[in-house]
Amino acid sequence: MNEEMKIKFWGARGSYPTPGAGTIQYGGNTACVEINAGHRTLILDAGTGIIPLGRELARRSASEKRPLELLMLFSHLHHDHTQGFPFFAPAYLPNARLHIFGPGGTPETLKHILELNQSAETFPVSLNDMASLKNIQSVHESQVIVWDEEGVRVVGAGVRLSEEALVIRIQKSYAHPGGVHIHRISWRGKSVVYATDTEGYVGMDRRLVAFARNADVLIHDAQYSEEHYRGQLAGFPATQGYGHSTATMAGEVAASTETGKLVLFHHDPAYSDEMVAAQENIAKEIFPDSRAAYEGLEINLMSSSFGRGVMEREVQYAKNG
Ligand SMILES: [Zn+2]
Ligand SMILES: [Zn+2]
Repeated sequence: MNEEMKIKFWGARGSYPTPGAGTIQYGGNTACVEINAGHRTLILDAGTGIIPLGRELARRSASEKRPLELLMLFSHLHHDHTQGFPFFAPAYLPNARLHIFGPGGTPETLKHILELNQSAETFPVSLNDMASLKNIQSVHESQVIVWDEEGVRVVGAGVRLSEEALVIRIQKSYAHPGGVHIHRISWRGKSVVYATDTEGYVGMDRRLVAFARNADVLIHDAQYSEEHYRGQLAGFPATQGYGHSTATMAGEVAASTETGKLVLFHHDPAYSDEMVAAQENIAKEIFPDSRAAYEGLEINLMSSSFGRGVMEREVQYAKNG
């Protein structure tokens, strides 16, 4: 039995995709993170990084002769977190089952937004014409998503869960325009917190600090340099209130939560590899076990190591192909 819990980054860029020579090192695809917990696969956000991931999952399913069952979580429904979904290969497979959750006022809101993204005027294939079996539901902070022996379901916060359950808790953050869901994904005593598209507060986001306490890995927005954020970077306006953090803000949250590792995420699309690397160095001064996410970065929570996996070659191939 597969006992591993692994994170893999397929897209780490914020706002819009940025191909080109200046973004080779960290990659240009928008937000998408894969988490494997034993035999279960969970996907965070559907930026363009989900496109090569989808090809890989479809290949995996064909070679293992096993239909896909996937859990997908949207942090929120801004373009850079949904734009890859219409090109996600498993969504077109008749034997694939997708359990899709995200924010929304009523249980139907998420489905409605995804339908609008693929309306006849804007995309050739409607959501309903994608052949996979899809269970799409908006969820709230008071709910918990569970994947265990009984399958994927939504329960109340107080329900007792088995050791084997993959558990996702939600915190609704108000630190991004329109709000954003921060997810805490736990399995067999390990946990990952995914806090993208969130802006730091003076004195830190104390709700986030409490929610992320003792996580093994904290994935945190770090879109801007301090100078950019304050409007002191030539050619860039101030970005206070845009709903994104600096590497300093991310490092301070990591240090306060006593998280195992910090991964900087949602890199500004205007930043070159050198500028992202500079962000990483700033975070390391506050929290030494920090690094900036790049396409192909894999973290094994059971061995707790950062490492460039063998998959990286395939990511490059998928990007070029
Ligand atoms: Zn975003
Ligand atoms: Zn956003």
